[in-house]
Amino acid sequence: APTDVSVLGLGLMGSALAATLLSAGHRLTVWNRTAAKTGPLTAQGALPAASPAEAVAASPLVIVCLSTNDNVTEALAGLDLTGKTLVNLTNGTPEQARSISGWATKAGAAYVDGGIMAVPQMIGSPAAYVLYSGDEEAYEAHRPTLAAFGGTRWVGTEPGRAALHDLALLTGMYGMFLGVAQAFALIRSESVPATEFAGPLQEWITAMLGAVPDLATAIDTEQHLTDVSNLAMNREVLPNFTDTFRAQGVDPGFFLLLAPLLDRAVEEGHGADGLSRLVMMLKQ
Ligand code: NDP
Repeated sequence: APTDVSVLGLGLMGSALAATLLSAGHRLTVWNRTAAKTGPLTAQGALPAASPAEAVAASPLVIVCLSTNDNVTEALAGLDLTGKTLVNLTNGTPEQARSISGWATKAGAAYVDGGIMAVPQMIGSPAAYVLYSGDEEAYEAHRPTLAAFGGTRWVGTEPGRAALHDLALLTGMYGMFLGVAQAFALIRSESVPATEFAGPLQEWITAMLGAVPDLATAIDTEQHLTDVSNLAMNREVLPNFTDTFRAQGVDPGFFLLLAPLLDRAVEEGHGADGLSRLVMMLKQ
């Protein structure tokens, strides 16, 4: 059955979330700092709230999606959240999620933190999903409503856990894009068209991603010895990359982060280990 829902924050993402809830038939109340952004949604039947307090009062389920968690803390400061479920889909740190959870719980709410694994255009499609952590009972109660956004993935009652997963997934993505940018910079240094190189690059990265489950097993079992590609060998060939970057006028900075990790691993006697050992080397 449709639930009353309030959405606070109508940026690119908040607007997409709100529009999806409207399409799913919920009675929707919306608030945004810049009131003009409520226009397209109220035209489709959403009710405008004049303040965060008014938006919170309107519905049992309150979804917030602002730029930062500092904005969330500021917007909700001093409000009575008794009996509300607060679902915070703002990107943030695990520590911020724990802190807002503590505050929201004291203010009377059940708190669920979320990490959106989609761009606004994907919201409501099967390709989108959201990570959730925090109050499991409230999550289960509202899951049918939250499912309008796409997949729902529960990662635990520790409120910071969704942010941890979100940041870790994006960490893998940023590393991948940095590698992709470096690869294009290198290939472009001899004017090879990027479009000509895109297919082989995508194919290679996709094939290499097949190693992720085996890396995970090595990490969990702490069995890093490999017969695939060991760190000593990788260290030997690293100058081929850095020398080429320099010769071709490409910034070698990315690989200069890798070199000391490989040096230290080999110095500490882990030369026969595979790339999974890097996880240990990254621990501070
Ligand atoms: P936008 O920049 O489009 O929107 C930001 C929203 O935050 C607006 O509603 C803005 O209000 C509001 N806001 C900013 N500062 C304040 C403040 N001090 N007080 C009250 N409201 C404030 O960002 P997105 O909608 O794209 O992103 C929102 C969140 O979703 C971010 O945490 C982002 O990381 C996350 N996200 C975004 C994705 C994306 O692809 N866009 C993907 C996954 C997560 P106003 O209109 O008045 O400026």
